[in-house]
Amino acid sequence: MLEREDFKSHSEAIIQWINNYFKNIESLPVKSKVKPGDIYKLFPKEPPITGISTDEILRQVNDKILPGMTHWQHPHFHAYFPGNASTESLLAEMVTSAMAAQCMIWETSPSAAELEQLVTEWLASMLSLPKGMEGVIQDTASTATLASILTARERITNFQSNKTGVPGNLRIYTSAEAHSSIEKAVAISGIGTSNMVKIAVDKNMALDPIYLESQIIQDIKDGYRPCCIIATIGTTGTMGIDPILPIGKFASKYGIWLHIDGAYAGTAVILPEYHWMIEGMQYADSFVFNPHKWMFTQFDCSVLFVRNADELIRCFEVNPEYLNTSTRGLVNDYRDWGIPLGRRFRALKLWWVICSYGVEGIRQKLRSHIRFNTIFAEKIDNMREWDHVTPPFLNFSCIRWSPAECKNEEDVDHWNKILLDHINQSGKAYLSHTKVNGRFAIRVVLGQTYIQEKHVHQLLHIIIQAMDRVRANKQTI
Ligand code: PLP
Repeated sequence: MLEREDFKSHSEAIIQWINNYFKNIESLPVKSKVKPGDIYKLFPKEPPITGISTDEILRQVNDKILPGMTHWQHPHFHAYFPGNASTESLLAEMVTSAMAAQCMIWETSPSAAELEQLVTEWLASMLSLPKGMEGVIQDTASTATLASILTARERITNFQSNKTGVPGNLRIYTSAEAHSSIEKAVAISGIGTSNMVKIAVDKNMALDPIYLESQIIQDIKDGYRPCCIIATIGTTGTMGIDPILPIGKFASKYGIWLHIDGAYAGTAVILPEYHWMIEGMQYADSFVFNPHKWMFTQFDCSVLFVRNADELIRCFEVNPEYLNTSTRGLVNDYRDWGIPLGRRFRALKLWWVICSYGVEGIRQKLRSHIRFNTIFAEKIDNMREWDHVTPPFLNFSCIRWSPAECKNEEDVDHWNKILLDHINQSGKAYLSHTKVNGRFAIRVVLGQTYIQEKHVHQLLHIIIQAMDRVRANKQTI
């Protein structure tokens, strides 16, 4: 066992390890190449009876654990949406970890509660959110969306469903392109996924407000109670932007809770030129975005804004004697603003990132990622056999290769899948896929914090090399 006095000498080895990791990250395969069970079998079935040294633990990290890691902070991580992090946020996490405070209520760390209030106010101002929206930090957008749906459920049942159960006729509306976390939240809320209506998208992959309205009017006639609409800015598969203004006007007319899922693209609203994405936000009851995706803040860090924090608190507040404090009601006890009681001090890393980048520094970084995508998209446009499946937007492209050898769309799907496997297995870059109108498409996100323009050119080269390899192996396709 180590004593606190041992920290300095041991941490020096760890700092050295982290420095080397950053220095060498581009030489590591972005996506781990191990097969299922490979890592598990490297370890003994029983835990060590006597402790092992830091040196030995570090050796095992290098030999046994590192090969099974996918390197999300590699500049050629272009899959899913990034979980981008930064040196600044890492430094903050070290301090947070050292203090290891559990910040469930104001009294268990007043600074954590007050910094959370401050930093969410800063973010509201950076995003130019409507006056009065208040923020709370959650672990993920999944949790934040669940908290919103639960509060919507409470509000429509006059705050009775926590007590007496959920009526069977509540309905939730979202787009056919919405993230799976919404379906999960609807299931957990007790409203039931059979009461979740997926609204068709238009040619821009955005929710069609006219269809939404007619569906809701019909549902009301049929005896359903529309509880919540979830609109997305930046859908996961195709970066669709649902039109919040017409949806919001309609939600407000019928008293339906409107939640905006901006998990990824919400960060772009910090750029004045993308503020149009949240036009109509004054009608929203809640909005979530993840600084842990595209705002250089270590996972986990998701911020939920609500128009009326009292409703959120009324949904989640439970008051056992052991949590009673004399400051109750005078301060924000964030345990009442969401599901878990225990809370990490997440505000510190957000505060640290905003302070050390400055708002302009954050804007510059975001704009550079968007510029990289413009360069990438232009090159793709100029490459024979390649198309954008949806218009490139922000730092996201959704593309498809149509090799001359393919006889039909099924063939094209298959070749794209093989191409993606080649790229990912090469270890040089990691991309992911989606289906658009039933057809396989490759997603490319240029959002790792330290990506530079040279990585865009490298990526194009990696794609071309993989095309050649797929063609060379075409007899095995
Ligand atoms: N919403 C959207 C649009 C997403 O793309 C994602 C994840 O990529 C989520 C929600 C879920 O995010 P989290 O992992 O923070 O729960």
